[in-house]
Amino acid sequence: MNDVAQSAGVFLAWAMLFLGVLLILAYRRSSLGRSSCVLGILLLAYWALGSFPEWWKVLVSIPYALLLLLNIRPLRLRAVTRPFLRSYRRLLPSMSATEREALDAGTVWWDGELFTGGPDWQKLMSAKVPTLTAEEQAFLDGPCEDLCAMLDDWDITHARADLPPEVWKFIKSQGFFGMIVPRRYGGLEFSAYAHSCVLVKIASRSGTASSTIAVPNSLGPAELLLHYGTEAQKDHFLPRLARGEEVPCFALTGPRAGSDAAAIPDIGVICRGQWQGSEIVGIKLNFSKRYITLAPVATVVGLAFRLFDPDRLMGERTDLGITCALIPRDTPGVTIGRRHFPLNVAFQNGPILGADVFVPIDSIIGGFPLAGQGWRMLVEQLGVCIGGVRAHPPAIQHADRPLRRRRAGLGAHGGAHLHHGCRALGHRGRDRRRRKAVGAVRHVEISRDRIRPHDRQ
Ligand SMILES: Cc1cc2nc3c(=O)[nH]c(=O)nc-3n(C[C@H](O)[C@H](O)[C@H](O)COP(=O)(O)OP(=O)(O)OC[C@H]3O[C@@H](n4cnc5c(N)ncnc54)[C@H](O)[C@@H]3O)c2cc1C
Repeated sequence: MNDVAQSAGVFLAWAMLFLGVLLILAYRRSSLGRSSCVLGILLLAYWALGSFPEWWKVLVSIPYALLLLLNIRPLRLRAVTRPFLRSYRRLLPSMSATEREALDAGTVWWDGELFTGGPDWQKLMSAKVPTLTAEEQAFLDGPCEDLCAMLDDWDITHARADLPPEVWKFIKSQGFFGMIVPRRYGGLEFSAYAHSCVLVKIASRSGTASSTIAVPNSLGPAELLLHYGTEAQKDHFLPRLARGEEVPCFALTGPRAGSDAAAIPDIGVICRGQWQGSEIVGIKLNFSKRYITLAPVATVVGLAFRLFDPDRLMGERTDLGITCALIPRDTPGVTIGRRHFPLNVAFQNGPILGADVFVPIDSIIGGFPLAGQGWRMLVEQLGVCIGGVRAHPPAIQHADRPLRRRRAGLGAHGGAHLHHGCRALGHRGRDRRRRKAVGAVRHVEISRDRIRPHDRQ
């Protein structure tokens, strides 16, 4: 009986030793070669010292022999890695072209370091902290201060459910809608940091005002025009947007696609139709959007939809993918529905519907060569929305989750969440973080040249 107990004890001790060594090797992520050496030495010790039958020692050595064979790289690739990868790939869902574009789009700036497991903090600390120019500072101390003095958030939210007419006028005339528009188009051409400072300041008085100003200065759609618009589109829209003659909105979200924005069911079909008295090849749009900020007062709608060319009027491809276009509000077939009143904040927000809306091909932002590149455009320019949200330090907690999702191609509108940070400002400790983050906005910007026109794909 004693002999049996002793043998069991010795067996357990060896088993524990083998297991312990295996765990240490795994924990230290030792290479295959080094693991084979260590286990080989242990196995030799086992053969020399272990008082077990020969057949058992041979049995224990078989897995080791297999492990040794894995050290022969061509054999390992052929016998293990490739078959494993093949079956693993079969298990994974296939990636659509839109998802592939979302993954390829933009950059991750320093945030990418966080996923390496060993972030380079020095890189973050040495990132340039942006500063204001004298002109930007003067705008903050002048028109921005004046605007704040005009804002009575109680009156805006609870009495009128809108900004007073004189505030609308002031915002437009002082160029608040054109902060990101270059001077040559009549805008203020502010840096991302100055833009952020203006929003922070206004948000401290009224979330309605800051959200109203945030939209025309982000996707909606000056940012898209600046990066991808044709010269004709820039010349036409940017001066009007800067002067506030056009009030824009950007319509992506719909009743059936929110976070999962790449799944929008809104469609545009390339076909022949009547435009200003003559027949042209254009796009017939049918769409239903909701939660669109500034929609109730918009004069021009930035629209995201999926484009099809079933009759191959423009090329060989029939499903061109998500596309962004600019549609004047008064185009026949466009309807703005009843206003939403989201989260008890009074900025203008509502649904937009389109039934058989016919527009020329030139309505596509960037023209037909950028048809199907809408998702990439949106994802690449999200840095601006993120900068906008980071402009409102307390907004980060509320908004980060949806923003991160859309950054990953899933959805959420940055501007939509700005209001969360309206009142509780003064988080000085976070200001430096905001400045660095806003400084990074330029890192996520990608030039039009990086977009591959679909006809070259
Ligand atoms: C005030 C406001 C202004 C807006 N302005 C605009 C605008 O100007 N333009 C525009 O296009 N859109 C705008 N939106 C819409 C905004 O982009 C959407 O609300 C957002 O994308 C979320 O979509 P959804 O509301 O349909 O929620 P859903 O996508 O239906 O999500 C509902 C819930 O499910 C969760 N969820 C969803 N998917 C997942 C998942 N895969 N895993 C785990 N959880 C998930 C979400 O976190 C959320 O809690 C605005 C919204 C608001 C509230």
